[in-house]
Amino acid sequence: MVCKRGICMVEDDSSFEYKKKSAWDIFSEEQINSAFDFCNDYITFLSQVKTEREAIEYIKNTVESSDKQLFINKHAGAAVVVRGSRPISEGVRLIISHIDSPRLDLKQVPLFEDSDCNLALLETHYYGGIKKFHWLTIPLALHGVIVKKDGSLVTLSIGEKPGDPVFCVPDLLPHLSHEVQNTKKLGDAIQGESLDIAIGNRPYKDDKDDEEKNGGNSKLKKMVLQHLHDEYGLIEEDFVSADIEAVPAYQPRDIGFDRALIGAYGQDDRVCAYTSLQAILDIDQPEYTAIALFVDKEEIGSEGNTSAQAMTFIRYVLKQLDSEADMDTLMMNSKVISADVDAAVTPNYKQVFELKNASSIGNGIAMSKYTGHGGKYSANDAPAEYVGEIRSMLNENNIPWQTGELGKVDKGGGGTVAKYFSRLGMSVIDLGPPVLSMHAPFEVTSKLDIYASYLTYKSFFSRK
Ligand code: MN
Ligand code: MN
Repeated sequence: MVCKRGICMVEDDSSFEYKKKSAWDIFSEEQINSAFDFCNDYITFLSQVKTEREAIEYIKNTVESSDKQLFINKHAGAAVVVRGSRPISEGVRLIISHIDSPRLDLKQVPLFEDSDCNLALLETHYYGGIKKFHWLTIPLALHGVIVKKDGSLVTLSIGEKPGDPVFCVPDLLPHLSHEVQNTKKLGDAIQGESLDIAIGNRPYKDDKDDEEKNGGNSKLKKMVLQHLHDEYGLIEEDFVSADIEAVPAYQPRDIGFDRALIGAYGQDDRVCAYTSLQAILDIDQPEYTAIALFVDKEEIGSEGNTSAQAMTFIRYVLKQLDSEADMDTLMMNSKVISADVDAAVTPNYKQVFELKNASSIGNGIAMSKYTGHGGKYSANDAPAEYVGEIRSMLNENNIPWQTGELGKVDKGGGGTVAKYFSRLGMSVIDLGPPVLSMHAPFEVTSKLDIYASYLTYKSFFSRK
């Protein structure tokens, strides 16, 4: 008989049946407290890091005050390394997470005014898979960089400090939305081109001469340009060379009376970036060289030189570690966790999940043997041997885990960076916490799943 938190049951280790278990039953009271403490720091991280550039800044600052090795890939990629005792040709232990999240990016010529509405607005092009209606009527902050005419770089972050203004995409009132929204399909009701952000209402006051000169036009736009020039020394053409992202302006919060969940923007996949970063910072002298790799552009198909498909960076890092090692042997011997979130079974929409295989919030880290869609198309399908090895690791370390699957067969699906690294000859599996409302501006995770992810990544790095 075992008794935990007042519930007693007959211990039955001989059961042949696989049963889903709650992380609340597997973790000790002490571990649960550690999980909550761990997540306080995670919340601080999320409140400071809302873009891929800010993630790299955070990683830089954190690693530079540690004894770990750091490699930076331009503005949006990084690798943190701890050398192992074995020669590097025997393989590395690599955990990859992505630091970009869905958002609204500004266009190159974003600024315009709508004189009927008396609004100055910004044109956007959404980044990644979003449900467009999520992004209307929420407070938005503007983050990013602008390269000015003279080549100097201006860093923006407006809408985060308590006294800052915020911005928003206005929506139509329900009284008038019948024809243009309510009777349309959800996906068609809001056009990408209509995700314009309101940024001002006060016109520029010209003297009389000026007013005649510009015919009384563009006064709202002029006011914004004047402000941007006074505050940052910007001219309109500077937006052409800029990466500016509109992200939710609100802060991460505890959810629930028990404070067991976290609600925040950008947890896909910065939850894995944070937990794998903490894991590598907390290991010493592993047997195999440990690398935490952070990549960009996953949400738009891993294209570009900071993405998971840009293999030159990882090759460069490996060569820096040992220029003599045979790259192919090294890669064939390497083991990888693709650290990305899984879709948690969602209340009221259970019909799209196959409940035996899908992950639920609070049942631990989700292990997805395969990703892809319809017939495992485009999947990294990890072989039984590697899944078995990971399963043993999780069980030996008493880490709560569950299987994961991105919806029912034929219902949809999705990919991760796993497949790109498996092509190098590495063994790869997907492991990450389940998330509710994935890709929404307020994603929900469980503190125990986050802690289970941290423990998984740390066990993987330190495994012999
Ligand atoms: Mn992801
Ligand atoms: Mn995603």
